[in-house]
Amino acid sequence: MRFRLHNLIFVFMGLGVVVGLLLAGVEDKAADWYPTTLQALNFFGRTVFIGMLKMIIAPLILVSIVAGVTSIPSFGDVGRIGTRTLLYYVTTTTLATALGLLLVLTIKPGERGGAEKLRSDRMAVLQEHRASFEAATGKPATVQDAAYLNWIAEREGATGDETYQRVASKKDRSTFDMFVQDIVQPMLMNPFKALSEGKSLGIIFFALLLALVCVAVGEPARPLVNVFQAANHVILRLTQWIMLISPFAVFCLMAWIVAVKGPEVFGSIAWYCGTVIGGIVIHFGVLMGICALLGRMNPLTFLRGMREAWAIAFSTRSSAATLPVTIRCMTRNLGVSPRVANFTLPVGATMNMDGTALYEGVAVIFLIQLYGGMDDVGITLVGGAVLVIFITAVLASVGAAAVPDAGLVTMVLVATAVHLPVYYLPLIFAVDAFLDMFRTSINVMGDAIGAVVVDRFEQPAETKAEA
Ligand code: ASP
Repeated sequence: MRFRLHNLIFVFMGLGVVVGLLLAGVEDKAADWYPTTLQALNFFGRTVFIGMLKMIIAPLILVSIVAGVTSIPSFGDVGRIGTRTLLYYVTTTTLATALGLLLVLTIKPGERGGAEKLRSDRMAVLQEHRASFEAATGKPATVQDAAYLNWIAEREGATGDETYQRVASKKDRSTFDMFVQDIVQPMLMNPFKALSEGKSLGIIFFALLLALVCVAVGEPARPLVNVFQAANHVILRLTQWIMLISPFAVFCLMAWIVAVKGPEVFGSIAWYCGTVIGGIVIHFGVLMGICALLGRMNPLTFLRGMREAWAIAFSTRSSAATLPVTIRCMTRNLGVSPRVANFTLPVGATMNMDGTALYEGVAVIFLIQLYGGMDDVGITLVGGAVLVIFITAVLASVGAAAVPDAGLVTMVLVATAVHLPVYYLPLIFAVDAFLDMFRTSINVMGDAIGAVVVDRFEQPAETKAEA
């Protein structure tokens, strides 16, 4: 049954791509059936399937962390597992970011392919801004003139694009603001509010505290712990039921996205896409090495056990929506102990995003390569800026929510840290959904290998499942 489901998901995924390509190629997009078909695909894939997965995320995180941590024998053990988990996450995210920067600085996607044309188009637009500024104010437009820079920003910021508005609303925050607003405050919120609004950081922090207090209280807290352990079993079974519709849902999600964002969007920024995807593929190789060497698990065994989770991550573009499936794959297929998986995976889905960190650095440097030196871009690449980008990309990935397009929104932090105006970001909006599929996949793989590694250090090698 499980074997058939894996295969069905992949077959339907391929079918979805084919149908999406056919839809993208339709000449008469105004015909009645066309928007109705897209709407139906979006309804079954996004509204129903992703909706059902999202429905169980908040209770799942609470229940799995409490069940996981309370099954760890002592405080010392909790501390050790926590430290190892964080160490792994920090190391791999740092590695991924450095890899992305290395690639983008060597390949220089911002100087290849259609870059010349993009630059000259942009210069022509700036020329118009210059002329309109000089005509309106009667004074010469100079790069150092703040009024001129505001003039450009106003004209560029006037775009009604919804994603742009979302991105622009996050600008002008310092790194410290971001740390406080995106990490500390969400961690300390009312747990009921966190649960009702699905704020993972708040739920994780509360669940950890609750679990630790249960361990400290001991026997009198046993009935409460039993409730969480039982609820954990029930939620995993619920995930299994939801997965029954996953092949059809994956078909709808793939067909919709390919139809709406047809392959032509890659066009002039193909080098940029290639750099992000290339970086993700290399990082994937590094993770497989870690899986074999530190996790002592055959990478093929790992990949076989994780097939369902990967397909769901790729098609939903959300590590959070994939979390129930990831936990199920790790504990059922790969024999990772629930006490490790239940703790490391929810924390990883929320904070450990290797793909997102890699992508943020590549994207911002690509834009600087492309537009550096223009009237309104106060930066050309220098060593110091690369360091700022490195640090802010890591932070931005920790702060990114585990939902589609989140990386694009937190990239504002990286861009503003090096004074790249946010209105340059829309250039990469068009391809973001495709790149999000790859970065979400590697985000989920990274979390899962973290669980394999931590679990391996928790038990003698010979008892480890070689599924
Ligand atoms: N969609 C990604 C995730 O859920 C986050 C991102 O946009 O980079 O892991």
